[in-house]
Amino acid sequence: MNVKTAGIPSINRWMCEFSDPGMERAFQSHVQPVVTQQLRWALIIWAGLLLLFAVPDYIAMGPVRPFYYLLTYRVVIVVALAILLCSIRPDTDIFRFSYPVTAVVLAGFTGFMLFFIYRPDVVTLIIIVIMVQLIGLLMFVPIRFILALSSALYGVFITLATRYILGTSTANLVGLSVLLILPVVIGAATTMRLGFSQRREYALLTEANKINQELADEMRKRVKLEEKLKELAATDPLTGLYNRRQYEMLFQHEMDRSRRSHSPLSVGILDLDDFKVVNDTYGHSAGDAVLRLVAEVCRRNLRAVDIVGRLGGEEFIILMPDCDIDQANILGNRLLQKIESAVTDTGSASIKVTATIGITQLFPDDKGIEGIISRADEALYRGKNAGRNRVEISRR
Ligand code: GH3
Ligand code: MG
Ligand code: MG
Repeated sequence: MNVKTAGIPSINRWMCEFSDPGMERAFQSHVQPVVTQQLRWALIIWAGLLLLFAVPDYIAMGPVRPFYYLLTYRVVIVVALAILLCSIRPDTDIFRFSYPVTAVVLAGFTGFMLFFIYRPDVVTLIIIVIMVQLIGLLMFVPIRFILALSSALYGVFITLATRYILGTSTANLVGLSVLLILPVVIGAATTMRLGFSQRREYALLTEANKINQELADEMRKRVKLEEKLKELAATDPLTGLYNRRQYEMLFQHEMDRSRRSHSPLSVGILDLDDFKVVNDTYGHSAGDAVLRLVAEVCRRNLRAVDIVGRLGGEEFIILMPDCDIDQANILGNRLLQKIESAVTDTGSASIKVTATIGITQLFPDDKGIEGIISRADEALYRGKNAGRNRVEISRR
């Protein structure tokens, strides 16, 4: 029978395990450190009691042959328990380790029947010890529940069978059955309840972790999306360069910074030469490809601190912080060489373009960015008139 609560994976009631073996494995490894420790103690206590009770045996029986039979039984089981103890490692898989433990439990119950034969004087005591063993097995030996329950039922069976063979009355056998079944029922019910609630707790914890993980993933996605949106809002979709709103903001920022730190700031306007011809000859989308390539060449060949924006059409603005007009002149010429040697391959044509740049510098009496841009524009205009593919500077 499987029990399923909303949101919790089903748990097999009789096995006292998750129906899904993968989930059960995960649970086992979650509780593994505690369970191996518990198993270790259970085996130690079991071995200790076995040895301890050899003393009353000796006192009652003396060094006779039956005493040695019983002592041999005790020693054999203790050796088996010692081997089990030595085999437990911090990473022992209790699921699999349950089988050798069960084998020793079965051997233990079987051998224990010798006490009925050699200690008929203390039958009641032996039965009480078996009851304690049954409840102890179910509650304190943390092996697979189904194996513990089967072993306990085997213990009940072999005790009744031994008592029957040794000639107990039917009435006594019935009474004994009730006595033995009682600890099995109590032990099994307790262990089942515990196993159930542990698994339910684990399932809830796993679910909560999953939800947390999903939330964290969602947050990461949102942050990425926001970054992307910010980037889209700040850049020109064709070239990926800063759009007007963004470069104007950066321009203002650089202007303030330049004035504060008394460092130079140069501004260039770059305009492609005869771009209309490119469009007319190769088509608008080839023109777009040229614009993308020129933007890429600018990005790659300017310094990391330089700011490139798309002023509009085939015109770009370049802000060069910490760069006076002469250094900007050198930078601009180098850039023009790179643009001239770049080739846009459209598949059907290889397009080469040139550009002209007008450069100026921020002067103390400059008021706003418009004045500076129009000064650079004038220089650009002169450059166009002077034959294009050149840098023209405007000191004033
Ligand atoms: P000049 O050397 O004097 O600058 O000549 P030009 O042909 O480059 O100048 P003009 O201003 O006459 O032409 C600019 C052309 O740029 C016209 C327009 O069709 C083209 N253009 C503007 N924006 C885009 C664009 O986004 N994509 C493409 N493919 N062409 C564009
Ligand atoms: Mg133009
Ligand atoms: Mg042009």
